[in-house]
Amino acid sequence: MKSCVITEPFKYEIREVPIPEPKDDEVLIRMKAAGVCGSDMHIFKGENPLSRYPLVPGHENVGEIVKVGKDCKKIKVGDHVVVDLIITCDNCYQCTHGRGNVCEHVLVRGSGTDGGWREYFTAIESDVYKIDDNIPWRDAALIEPLAIGEHCTTRARIAEDDVVFILGTGTIGTIIAQACKLKGAKTVICCDISDSSLERSKLFGADYTINSKTENVVERVAEITDGHGCTVAFDSACFQGSLTFVLQKGIVCNAGRVVPMGFCSKPEGLCQNDINARELDIIGSRMSLHQFEPTAKKMAEGKYRLEGLATTFVKFSEIDKVFDNILHPNPEVKKTVILFDGVE
Ligand SMILES: [Zn+2]
Ligand SMILES: [Zn+2]
Repeated sequence: MKSCVITEPFKYEIREVPIPEPKDDEVLIRMKAAGVCGSDMHIFKGENPLSRYPLVPGHENVGEIVKVGKDCKKIKVGDHVVVDLIITCDNCYQCTHGRGNVCEHVLVRGSGTDGGWREYFTAIESDVYKIDDNIPWRDAALIEPLAIGEHCTTRARIAEDDVVFILGTGTIGTIIAQACKLKGAKTVICCDISDSSLERSKLFGADYTINSKTENVVERVAEITDGHGCTVAFDSACFQGSLTFVLQKGIVCNAGRVVPMGFCSKPEGLCQNDINARELDIIGSRMSLHQFEPTAKKMAEGKYRLEGLATTFVKFSEIDKVFDNILHPNPEVKKTVILFDGVE
């Protein structure tokens, strides 16, 4: 089988390796589709401090079960599955308090341990979830990022009277907009510096858009919200200063919630007053937890708009194109899905 390995930052190779054998409690997955995510780009460029090399990237993995170990009870050969990206210890404080996604010993497939950009791999049975056979593989690869939207909007306690501000309308921004609308949020305002990206966000649930390059954001938010401000803000832009930007008075109201979505490590310019004068909740959100199955179910029920969410499809045999795009990004490419042999 072929395996795509990042050997060191900015270097990768396609290796010919044996197909692994599942242990008694493991299943063998034949990969069908894998999403490409911003974090894969950081890993390729050596910007993820938790990554070690050589590494098989890829954490948005779906495939078909071709073999099961003798102790597997639930998953059968032929099942279509999505693979959890999180490997947890199940014993630490976080794992025993329903917070396994931030397990003290968490290992993430595709960054801390090998991921899915290879034709086959094994996983413990409990790390794979059966999905509806009718979901096309190219859509199924989006279950993981959609699960992030479900998770962060759960963390943000999105409800029907919420007025949501989303900074950044890339893949995650549009997924959050969609998740908020599905949870009944009253108003979703998307903010970005690209008009075409803002236009696209309307397809995924944005009721209003603001171009922060050409418009005064606080004034526009005041206009849209009758001066009350937004009840929740998500920062899916994640650059130095973006968190300070969404926290400002005029964007988030008193008792509002702010959810940073990224991992920017540069300092922000906050003071206690920014948080306490309005008694804001700043709520961290990392990956997702227990969301794969409900997300796959919603997908099978046609609850999500998927058209246009992935913009680019690349065959695994042409994976060079994925790395080319990391080095020379084409602004039209928002989300790439890698399709394995035989998947259209
Ligand atoms: Zn991702
Ligand atoms: Zn743990």
